[in-house]
Amino acid sequence: MKRWHKIIVALLALLGCAFYWLLYDNRPGDTAPAPLDIASLRAAANAMPGNKPDTISVETVARGALADTMLVAGSGFGRRDQGVHSFRIATGDQSIILDSGLSAESNAAMPFYKHDGDAYARVLAALPRARLIVVTHEHLDHIGGVLAAQNWANVSPRTRITREQVDHPEVTAPLEWPKGSRETYQPLSYQGMLPIAPGVVLIKAPSHTPGSQMMFVQLATGREYLFMGDISSMDRNWRETRARSRLVGDLFVGENRAAVFGWLKAFKALHEANPQVVMVPSHDAVTVDEMVQAGLLKRGF
Ligand SMILES: [Zn+2]
Repeated sequence: MKRWHKIIVALLALLGCAFYWLLYDNRPGDTAPAPLDIASLRAAANAMPGNKPDTISVETVARGALADTMLVAGSGFGRRDQGVHSFRIATGDQSIILDSGLSAESNAAMPFYKHDGDAYARVLAALPRARLIVVTHEHLDHIGGVLAAQNWANVSPRTRITREQVDHPEVTAPLEWPKGSRETYQPLSYQGMLPIAPGVVLIKAPSHTPGSQMMFVQLATGREYLFMGDISSMDRNWRETRARSRLVGDLFVGENRAAVFGWLKAFKALHEANPQVVMVPSHDAVTVDEMVQAGLLKRGF
């Protein structure tokens, strides 16, 4: 073989390895499943007396698709729609908002998402009417609506941004908190699980970001939901124990991949033992559509 032939072969091999490692590698490692048992979740959901929620509705603030393997390592180059969602958990006329979408300006940095200005306006309108506002994590497509400066004074007293979410503005960047607001903000501090309303529980889950958390909801009807945030952006993440690609998870997000795998294993085990729990992935627009069709979520605030 000529010398330049050898160089080309070596370069191709290197490219192949990089391609595999960045986009397809999904070795889950030996991380133990994270602690997540249904008895503790139910005990927390029943810790506060009062009426439990009756309806959960959803707004899709942006929608589009990247190649599947970007968010679900090793799943190929199909394109299943992804969405930026905001959820409203209602008990009569009281509501809790989970995640708040992102503005058109923030969306411009993610051109694969088409922004829905009307849906975003409905989310912004719902924020000052909510009793509580929480976010699954501090990325701008989840905390964006909350930090929208024009209604911060109205919205801020209703928010329960956690200590870890407040402490990591570099994770929220390039979106910034309204000027001076972060320094004086009184964050929510808790460990493990925290009931925030009858039937509604926050679960601390640092992994995708330092401030990641999840929400467990038990409706008045008894139906239960686990909002997994970006630990399981897509339905296949938890069903197949597949993390994000390393390109997105390691290089762009800088997430704790081992911790993500620990939660993904826990989701699968929880669902195997309790198949009636509705597992809600944060960005899977097709799964959210199916849940709307099935009457598990209501479309629109
Ligand atoms: Zn995220």
